[in-house]
Amino acid sequence: MKKPSIIIVGSSNTDMVIKSPYLAKPGETILGGTFFMNAGGKGANQAVAAARLGGNISLIAKVGNDIFGKQAIELFKKEGIDTTHVFTDKKHPSGVALINVDDNGENCIVVASGANAALIKEDIESAKDKIANASIVLMQLETPVSTIEHVASFAKVNGVKVVLNPAPAAELSDELLQNINIITPNQHEAGMLTNTVVDDVDAAKHAARILNGKGVETVIITLGANGALLYEKDFFTEIAAPVVKAVDTTAAGDIFNGALVVALSEGKTMKHAVEYACNAAAISVTRLGAQASAPYRNEVADAPALKEEESID
Ligand code: AMP
Repeated sequence: MKKPSIIIVGSSNTDMVIKSPYLAKPGETILGGTFFMNAGGKGANQAVAAARLGGNISLIAKVGNDIFGKQAIELFKKEGIDTTHVFTDKKHPSGVALINVDDNGENCIVVASGANAALIKEDIESAKDKIANASIVLMQLETPVSTIEHVASFAKVNGVKVVLNPAPAAELSDELLQNINIITPNQHEAGMLTNTVVDDVDAAKHAARILNGKGVETVIITLGANGALLYEKDFFTEIAAPVVKAVDTTAAGDIFNGALVVALSEGKTMKHAVEYACNAAAISVTRLGAQASAPYRNEVADAPALKEEESID
């Protein structure tokens, strides 16, 4: 039987990282840095994570007509991702993030969205059949919100489950929230979306109730090393993260979301899917990099996370 398909709509960037002893001040030049490049962008990170875990992934994204765009498409193909709807924009360059990291791990990041910002709703037309026949659509907020809104309402009309990872944090319309089945903010994003401060589990529960009240059926708030809080059908479930030695938490949320949609597309329960996502994300934080840290299917335990607490709202 053909695997249920997952559509991921989102960004693709090339991260250009320079490590230096300290962050440059305005007008200053620092010599002696080291340089490396990584494939990034939340859409691409989540697509790679989901593909490595065995998902049948189509990515809808836009790159520039340049070397970065070509490299990104080649990488997606190598990961087994369907790139039919990775468009090449003639006017805008590929998205680039310039990242300066100092010896203390502090960073300073400037993103030029380029072609990502040109992924408009008209681009979605050619992918509509694929979306209508998919089991799940996963999106983030590094591409225009009008495009996200368009995809969410089309998916809803066609009975396709919509997962929104609201990152980076932004205000969202009530209409968009009503077209989403599952929202997966981290603590900071949950706070932004609800005008609250989410700094512990009780505050996360409060934020989850607010988001649920705005029409999102299922709220999953990721809690870093503390795992995730699931709120569904008036039940809270706290899912602990496996205890690991974290070396780099970059893209942990992306790996979490990629794993979540793979598990859901395979018919796992919501709780089981969140456990699986926690297990995959925990592996990624033990490794350096974004896409580079995404685990393969045979590495991720399908067993429940360590501790769970369930409570009625
Ligand atoms: P965050 O975006 O920081 O909430 O992290 C997303 C997910 O990554 C969390 O829900 C955890 O499952 C996982 N995660 C992040 N940091 C750690 C950590 N230090 N140890 C284990 N898992 C982690």
